[in-house]
Amino acid sequence: MGPGMTMIPKPPAPGALEQEQFLKILSREEALARFEAALFPRVLRGELRKLAAALGAALAEDITAPIDVPPFDRSNVDGFAVRSADLATAGEGAPVRLALNGETIHCGTAPTLQVVAGTATPIATGGPLPRGADAVVMVEHTQPAGLDAIDVRRAVSPGQFVSYAGSDIARGEALLRAGTIMGSREIGMLAACGIAEVSVARRPRVAVISTGDELVQPGRPLGSAEIYDTNGAIVAAAVDENGGEAIFLGAIPDDEAELESAMRRALADSDMLVLSGGTSKGAGDLSHRIIGRLGQPGIIAHGVALKPGKPLCLAVCDGKPVVILPGFPTSAMFTFHDMIVPVLRRMAGLPPRSDAKVDATVPVRIASELGRTEFVMVSLVEGRDGLIAYPSGKGSGAITSFAQADGFLRIDALADQMSAGTEAEVTLFTPHVRVPDLVIVGSHCTGLDLVTAQLAHAGLTVRSIAVGSLGGLAAAKRGECDLAPIHLFDDKSETYNTPYLVEGLELVPGWRRMQGIVFRRGDKRFEGLNAKDAVAAALADSTCIMVNRNQGAGTRILIDRLLGGVRPEGYWNQPRSHNAVAAAVAQHRADWGMTIAPVAHAVGLGFIPLAEEHYDFALVTARKDRPGVQAFLDALGSDAAREALERAGFRPA
Ligand code: AMP
Ligand code: MG
Repeated sequence: MGPGMTMIPKPPAPGALEQEQFLKILSREEALARFEAALFPRVLRGELRKLAAALGAALAEDITAPIDVPPFDRSNVDGFAVRSADLATAGEGAPVRLALNGETIHCGTAPTLQVVAGTATPIATGGPLPRGADAVVMVEHTQPAGLDAIDVRRAVSPGQFVSYAGSDIARGEALLRAGTIMGSREIGMLAACGIAEVSVARRPRVAVISTGDELVQPGRPLGSAEIYDTNGAIVAAAVDENGGEAIFLGAIPDDEAELESAMRRALADSDMLVLSGGTSKGAGDLSHRIIGRLGQPGIIAHGVALKPGKPLCLAVCDGKPVVILPGFPTSAMFTFHDMIVPVLRRMAGLPPRSDAKVDATVPVRIASELGRTEFVMVSLVEGRDGLIAYPSGKGSGAITSFAQADGFLRIDALADQMSAGTEAEVTLFTPHVRVPDLVIVGSHCTGLDLVTAQLAHAGLTVRSIAVGSLGGLAAAKRGECDLAPIHLFDDKSETYNTPYLVEGLELVPGWRRMQGIVFRRGDKRFEGLNAKDAVAAALADSTCIMVNRNQGAGTRILIDRLLGGVRPEGYWNQPRSHNAVAAAVAQHRADWGMTIAPVAHAVGLGFIPLAEEHYDFALVTARKDRPGVQAFLDALGSDAAREALERAGFRPA
C-alpha cells in the first residue's frame, strides 16, 4: 500500500456477499494525483470562433499582430499639422505666422497636399499626418490671422501630438499567448488588429446523468417516496461555469442494462461523463460495475478520504474521464468543485480557479471524523474583533448548507475536532467577503422571512442562521449577531424570553405563534375535542401513533406537560422542526403531534389550539444603531409586516 492509503474493512451486507468487501480509500491528494496522471498531458483541441463568441474562452494558440496599430502616423488632437523647425523661435511675445494649406484632414480622409516650410494644414483628432509635417499644434495654442493663416505662440517638439504607425501595436508583435482567457480587453485588442475569428480551446462536452429510481425532474409532480433530481441541475451548471459544455441526459433508473446503454451512448459523443448517485455500493448501485466494462484503465479511485464525499468514484475509460459523484447533493457539489473542476478546467485550457481566502474565528466546537479530510461550510458574520465563521448545522444531505454558505473551512484528516475559538482559514465561494447588513442568529420562523423581505427589497443583505433559541442567545451574548430570535419559556416565572436576557441585551417583542395538536382532518378520534381531551383520546387508543419534538424545543415542554409522564408509541420519533411534525402526520407516519398553526394550515391538517408561544428578539444593545438593525425595527413595526404576519397566521405582539 502506498502512502496516504488505508484499508477500511467493510462488513459484508446480508444478501450482498458477491459485492466487493473492501473499499480501498485513497487520500484526496493521492486520488487527484492518480486521476490527473491518467488524463494528462493531452492535446488541447481548438476551434475557430467569432470574436463575440470567444468571450470567456481560452486561446488555443499564440496570436501575433497582422498589422500596425495605428496603421499610419496620426494626430492625437484637433489642430494643425506643422513642421516643428518652422516654430523653433515661436513664443508668447514672438508669434510665428503660418499660411494654411487648402485642405482639412478629417478622420478617414487621406491628405493630398504636402506641408512645405511656412505652412500648416488643419487636422482633426485621428486624421493621418500629411507628407512634410512632423508635429501637430493644438488649436487652443493658435490664433487665426485672417482666413488663410494662423499665428502660433509656442514652439513644438518633433512628434508632438503624433501617434506613430505601430506605436500601439507593432506588426509581428506577440499580442496574446495561448491559454489567455478572452475578456472584453482581449477582444478589443484583436478587433483593433482586424482579427474577426480566433482559435480557442474547444469546450469539453460533458455528459451529465443522474441515477436513482426515486428521482423526478423539476417541473413534474412528486410521487410518494420520490425526490427532485438536484444533482443534474447542479452539475450541469457547474460544468458550464468551468469551461465545459454540459449535456444533461436526465435521470436513469437503477437498472443495469438501461444504465449501461445510457452510459455508452453518453460517452460516445462526449469528452467526459459525470454521473451522480449509486456509489455507496448498496443494492441499487451499478454504475461503478458498468465502468469496468467501458474502457481502459477503468476505475482509478473508488472511495476518497474526504468528507463530504467519501463514495466518490474516479475513472478513465479510453482517455475520457468518467466520474461518479456521491448522491447527496452537497457531497456531489463539493466533490465536483474540489476534485473534478481542476481536471475539467485543464481540459478546457483554463487556468486553475483562484479562490479567495480569509481568516475567521470559529465560535463553536466542530466535531470531525478522524481519518478523513473534512470540509465544513460556513457563513461569515462580523464579530467584535474580526470575522466569525459559523458552521452550517445541516448534514451532507442539505442543499442549503452549500448554497447559503460563504465558503468552507478544512479540518485535517488527523484531527477529530476543531475547538471553539480556533482561527481558521476560510476559502470563499465568492471573490470577496460579503458582510451582511443584518445578522440574525437563533430560532428560525417563517414569519421572520415576511419581515426581512422588506429589507431585502430595499437592497439590504440579511443573513439568518438557524441555530435554535439557546444557540442564538449565546451568539448574542458574544456579540456575534444583531438579533437573536428566541422562544424560551421560563417555568419559574411562567413567562417567555425576558428572564433569559442578560446585561447588554434588550427584548424586542416579535409575534405570537399558536401551538396546538395536529391531526388529519376527518380523524374521528380528535375532531371537535380540546387539546387535553384529544391527548386523552390518543392515549386510550393503542393503535394511535404520535410524533414528538426534540429535547430542548419549546414545543417539547408543552407535549411533556400534556402527556404527564406517559410515553406512547411514537414518543421517540423526535424531529427538530415544526414542518417535520406536520409532514409525519400528513404522510400517515404518525396520527398526531404538536406544531404551530401556520404550519398545520399550510399542509391542510386539523388543528386544536393549545397555547400561544412568544417569538421575540434579543437585541444586542451595542449594535442597535447599525442601519440594518434600524431598518429591521422599522420593518417589524410597519403595517405591511403586521398584515403579512396576520395573513400567515401569526399574531404580532
Ligand atoms: P446513492 O448514492 O444513490 O445511494 O444516493 C445517496 C442519497 O443521495 C440518496 O438519499 C439519494 O436519494 C440521494 N440522491 C441521489 N441522487 C440524487 C440527485 N440527483 N438529486 C438529489 N438527491 C439524490
Ligand atoms: Mg441511488
